[in-house]
Amino acid sequence: MTTEHELDLLENAVDSLNEALRKYKEGLNGDLRAYKFAIIHYAHFIELLFKYYVSESHPLLIYKNPFSKKIQKENTIGLWEAIQFLKNEGKEVEPEFFKDMEWLKKLRNDIEHFKFTMDVAEARRALGRLTQSVLDFNDTHAEIDIFEHIDADTFKVFEELADEHKAALSNARREAEEESEDAEVYDCEICWSKGTAIKIDGKYVCKLCGDEDPIVECTVCTEDYRQSECSIWNDDHPPYVDYICGYCEERIRNM
Ligand SMILES: [Zn+2]
Ligand SMILES: [Zn+2]
Repeated sequence: MTTEHELDLLENAVDSLNEALRKYKEGLNGDLRAYKFAIIHYAHFIELLFKYYVSESHPLLIYKNPFSKKIQKENTIGLWEAIQFLKNEGKEVEPEFFKDMEWLKKLRNDIEHFKFTMDVAEARRALGRLTQSVLDFNDTHAEIDIFEHIDADTFKVFEELADEHKAALSNARREAEEESEDAEVYDCEICWSKGTAIKIDGKYVCKLCGDEDPIVECTVCTEDYRQSECSIWNDDHPPYVDYICGYCEERIRNM
């Protein structure tokens, strides 16, 4: 009975994860309501996974009262109890991971009580951090091959969430697309990322590295350029700085 129960927990955990990833993918494809279900399933995944970790010490430890005469009727422990148990065993979760789990649980509860507002970009970043933290914790304390349990249709999106840089890059690109005012995205000249920058409030802003590149007018051809692409021209009278674009500068120097 006990080994069967353990297996159920892990299987249910990864089923929830795959379902969360499927909904997350729908969210990425533009169905914003799907993020809500991604959060619900993901919270379920974390809860079941941590219960599974506890059950590895002893299957009956997932019950609040493992000494009960009617064990099947006992309530099972929740996420915080599971985390405390693991901590007591010397398997502590990182403070940032704990904070993200609190955020996830709170958002899940709010969703269930229909009183939530979700910042979709924040949700994507948090799911990326949670995925990386789960994998770190798992590598350090448990060593389940989580990747092995990921379905083919959700593998790519899981890989992306699991890779910090990939997750950050694709989130930055999505934020750029969502926030762009002129319906264009630009490359960042500082971190060399493609499609992560937008024009806003008179400057180019990169959603990945945060760099802000002011838009300046070339004093010769009067076209707009990024400040980083221009040179300072006739800078005799600060604070009035004249800029010159690369094309004009080359033309003038070759005259
Ligand atoms: Zn950048
Ligand atoms: Zn010019």
